[in-house]
Amino acid sequence: MELESILLPGIEDKRPMIISGPCSAETEEQVMETATKLAGNGLKIFRAGVWKPRTKPGGFEGVGTPALKWLQKVRKETGMYVATEVATEKHVYESLKYGMDMLWIGARTTANPFAVQEIADTLKGVDIPVLIKNPVNPDLELWIGAIERLYNAGLKKLGVIHRGFSTNDKTVYRNIPQWHIPIELKRRYPDLPIICDPSHIGGKRSMVKTISQQAMDLNYYGLIIESHRNPDDAWSDSAQQVSPDALEEILRELVIREKVQSTEDLSDLREQIDELDNEILQVLSKRMRVSREIGLYKLEHDMPVLQTGRYDHILNDRAEQGENMQMSGNFVKQVLEAIHSESVRQQFDVMEKNKK
Ligand code: PEP
Ligand code: MN
Repeated sequence: MELESILLPGIEDKRPMIISGPCSAETEEQVMETATKLAGNGLKIFRAGVWKPRTKPGGFEGVGTPALKWLQKVRKETGMYVATEVATEKHVYESLKYGMDMLWIGARTTANPFAVQEIADTLKGVDIPVLIKNPVNPDLELWIGAIERLYNAGLKKLGVIHRGFSTNDKTVYRNIPQWHIPIELKRRYPDLPIICDPSHIGGKRSMVKTISQQAMDLNYYGLIIESHRNPDDAWSDSAQQVSPDALEEILRELVIREKVQSTEDLSDLREQIDELDNEILQVLSKRMRVSREIGLYKLEHDMPVLQTGRYDHILNDRAEQGENMQMSGNFVKQVLEAIHSESVRQQFDVMEKNKK
């Protein structure tokens, strides 16, 4: 992929590139006041959602085209560049008509190849930076597919936004970061700038600073942070938005570490290891939860804990599967034996505790 820089004229090529503004454009006053404060604090790129994809109907779905006029006004009166989210052909036409400087594709849209293709077809021949958010589901290939659709339509000023992935597990995040996914994307496309969206990852304003710092320590190029003149009154994503002044403080306190090539590469890999180990533990704990449920079932139905036939079969099957996944069959067997033995222990434990 031969990419061109997403930098807009006059903006310094310096980490982090910052995009900020409200989740949604709500009213002209809210947009103008937020933008004026951000511009006063030195920010250069303003974001606002004009069409909002909501989980259920009935919520605030955005003002639509009239809000693009407010963004145009922001551009004219503050000198900031303006960016918005597009999900359909109509959104693209309207955004271009009203002079948006940058577009992004939302996480729900990236997950839909038809929608991405429609946007790509509509943008054919247009020279505009486009940022592609990760799909809601942790599917790197789907994310790459969206990037390719735009690239194949001739768009060269491409970047990505890492906004975390949805999960049913209870975590401190709104969308779990799964850092290894964007890191793998960066490994495959080193020239693709990655922008972190700590607002949608954390879901709470108290987490924005830490996640932003983590992104900077992972060498991300930029940050897109939701801000609002009065976050508590926001019509969408209220809990995660910060005031322009809080944003200023977050940015002031960010530590941008110098890039030292060799150790930096290593630290990216180590971060990946930590993240993966963490995931392995989470999966194991889920696995043990199921084992305990099985233990209870067996207790209620007077079944023995160990059913040797099934276990032998599983072990051999998985060892073969492991070999197909570039691991030694023996290693896979050892791991599974250890898991199985802990699983048996957990079943005994739950049976012991629930014996009448
Ligand atoms: C947004 O940026 O406000 C938004 C809708 O984000 P996402 O697509 O990441 O959910
Ligand atoms: Mn939002």
